[in-house]
Amino acid sequence: MNSAATAASEWYRPTSLADALAIRASARGAVVAIAGCTDLMVGWNAGSRRLPSVLDLSALPELGAIEVGPDAVTIGAAVCCARIAAHPAIAGRLPMLASSARQTGSIAIQNRATLGGNIMNASPAADNPPVLLAFGARVTLASVRGSRTLDYAAFHTGYKRTLAEPDELLVSVTVPYPAPGASSHYRKVGTRRAQAISKVALAALIETTDRAEDGTRRVRDARFGFASAGPVPLTAPSLSAALRDSPLPAIDRLLVERALASDLSPIDDIRSTAAYRRQVAVNLVMAALAEASQVP
Ligand SMILES: Cc1cc2nc3c(=O)[nH]c(=O)nc-3n(C[C@H](O)[C@H](O)[C@H](O)COP(=O)(O)OP(=O)(O)OC[C@H]3O[C@@H](n4cnc5c(N)ncnc54)[C@H](O)[C@@H]3O)c2cc1C
Repeated sequence: MNSAATAASEWYRPTSLADALAIRASARGAVVAIAGCTDLMVGWNAGSRRLPSVLDLSALPELGAIEVGPDAVTIGAAVCCARIAAHPAIAGRLPMLASSARQTGSIAIQNRATLGGNIMNASPAADNPPVLLAFGARVTLASVRGSRTLDYAAFHTGYKRTLAEPDELLVSVTVPYPAPGASSHYRKVGTRRAQAISKVALAALIETTDRAEDGTRRVRDARFGFASAGPVPLTAPSLSAALRDSPLPAIDRLLVERALASDLSPIDDIRSTAAYRRQVAVNLVMAALAEASQVP
């Protein structure tokens, strides 16, 4: 393991997960894990406090791989958004994830920003979490006590709070492939088309039945993930329940609006208002349903 003294702190750069977890355990939360550092650097630049000691995750092979399996892709926590967006299996089987990775800041940011950092920073406005929710992803955490895999849907417990313990690291994220023919859709609404944190964003994964004799399709299963619509990245269980088995042409705005009323809890803040966010969320769902009805 490498440790280099800096002016204000220790810089640990282990080359195995076991060493990293040992440092994490012995430091008892006093050493900050850093991946791409794009979130941490902003906070450190803004403050005048002394830089903490850091545990640099960039040399851990266990966190740097993308493994393509028969049912899912497993992405190491330290894989950056640029690699995710460019990966052929992700672009082919999970295009919505390639899309959210491509919309995570600028190209320069995407070259550093990791999927693990995006999750562990636990911002309700982050781009990739809604997509992971819609796909039903699982996250694997490890500590010296062992490893555990959790449904990502349960991971965010409150604003900037997660189920991760202070001695744990996020190791990987497993994203199952959707059913063949499912329609997926990631849309982010921000102040500009690029380089903007979302006012609201939607990931939608909609499975439909074959066309009936009258040409209509029904929703077999619809799963959603929202950003900037509550204190954590949100699913929309009432909306999913309301849409199940509905014929696509019969789904109107009012039904979506009513279901989302209890699923979302947006706030007024510097980027937008709660009322605008609610309206845009409905617009985005209607657009996703329209797209699903176009699937051949
Ligand atoms: C100019 C700019 C634009 C941005 N635009 C966007 C945007 O459009 N969309 C968006 O979603 N985000 C955006 N961000 C935020 C940021 O780039 C992302 O959240 C990024 O994915 C964070 O990843 P990172 O590797 O840089 O995390 P870091 O800054 O290294 O870490 C973030 C947090 O996660 C923890 N952490 C990191 N990895 C692990 C791990 N494996 N296990 C445990 N804890 C871990 C760190 O301790 C820290 O608390 C932007 C940031 C900047 C500076």
